[in-house]
Amino acid sequence: MTIYNFSAGPACLPHSVLTQAQQDLVHYPGAGISVMEMSHRSADFENILHDAKTRLRKLANIPDDYDIIFLQGGASLQFSMIPMNLAPKAVDIIDTGQWTSKAIKEHQKCTQVNVIASSKDKNYTYIPKLDQALTGDYLYICENNTIYGTQYHQLPHAKHLIGDLSSDILSRPLDITKYDLVFAGAQKNIGPAGLTLVILKKSLLDQIDDSQIPSVLSYKVQASNQSMFNTPPTWAIYICSLVFKWLEEEIGGLEAMERINQQKAKLLYDYLDQSTFFHNPVNPQDRSLMNIPFISPNAELDQLFIAKAKEAGLINLKGHRSVGGMRASLYNAMPIEGVQKLIELMQTFEGEHHA
Ligand SMILES: *Cc1c(COP(=O)(O)O)cnc(C)c1O
Repeated sequence: MTIYNFSAGPACLPHSVLTQAQQDLVHYPGAGISVMEMSHRSADFENILHDAKTRLRKLANIPDDYDIIFLQGGASLQFSMIPMNLAPKAVDIIDTGQWTSKAIKEHQKCTQVNVIASSKDKNYTYIPKLDQALTGDYLYICENNTIYGTQYHQLPHAKHLIGDLSSDILSRPLDITKYDLVFAGAQKNIGPAGLTLVILKKSLLDQIDDSQIPSVLSYKVQASNQSMFNTPPTWAIYICSLVFKWLEEEIGGLEAMERINQQKAKLLYDYLDQSTFFHNPVNPQDRSLMNIPFISPNAELDQLFIAKAKEAGLINLKGHRSVGGMRASLYNAMPIEGVQKLIELMQTFEGEHHA
């Protein structure tokens, strides 16, 4: 039975990437040893790192005045690294749920935070409008809200914008020029857990005074050492390079990826919108293409549905504990067949349990 993994993260990876990794696991071609065993200073690994960076730069159309760095510590470490490095007097943050709440908490340890808009009043089921003037040194947003299934489809205007793109990076074309800095934990849409991607304007680096910052946490140190200040997560970087290659060669780039993602999400939203049994609570204009939460008429039926889905090979559909119900994460690597199977099961379940 084919298993379809709807987990919000760590999430599904392209089958062809895993097969390639399996083939190269013991003997990386030409090296005779595994990537996991290689010195990070070896020519083979330097090529892998270079390949990952150049592929990403091309794929996401990242101009030369932006740096790409691979870090550790998860997306969560960026909640602290950003204010530590940029040393703002104050920041504006739009509160769209748990991931921005955590960013607010960490920022508050370093600087003053203005929560400039929030969708807390409706349990984060929409993207709030900005109706106040910005006064902080930068505006911080979370582009796709993994838990609630909301996503910015138009970015707010700000002179200096910073984005958490953990759960939608590379799901559609990226206009990095709108941002000073974006970051993403790899485990949702890029690769294995343990790697964090940061893309930032090179000009920011010149403004950083890192005399009081631990070296590992300094963007300047990490960028000037090409992500190799210390041992980077070599295996994770290698898998990412395979994912970038897959996006480029098998999918055909980020525009093609976006069309596929739109197609997958539309199937599920169309079904949800005509159903009188299952329901998605998100404001239609703000719906995420990546994470789609839904509920049935009650918690017992939710639980039964999740169990039935598991039996059918559709796993990890349980919603986040803070919202309950179900959540289908349709990241890049989720094939359309997975979404079709899910909808078939929902139809059957609805037929059996509709009052
Ligand atoms: C998962 C997630 C995070 C946290 O990632 P870690 O790598 O576990 O720290 C942060 N932001 C968003 C939007 C996420 O989806």
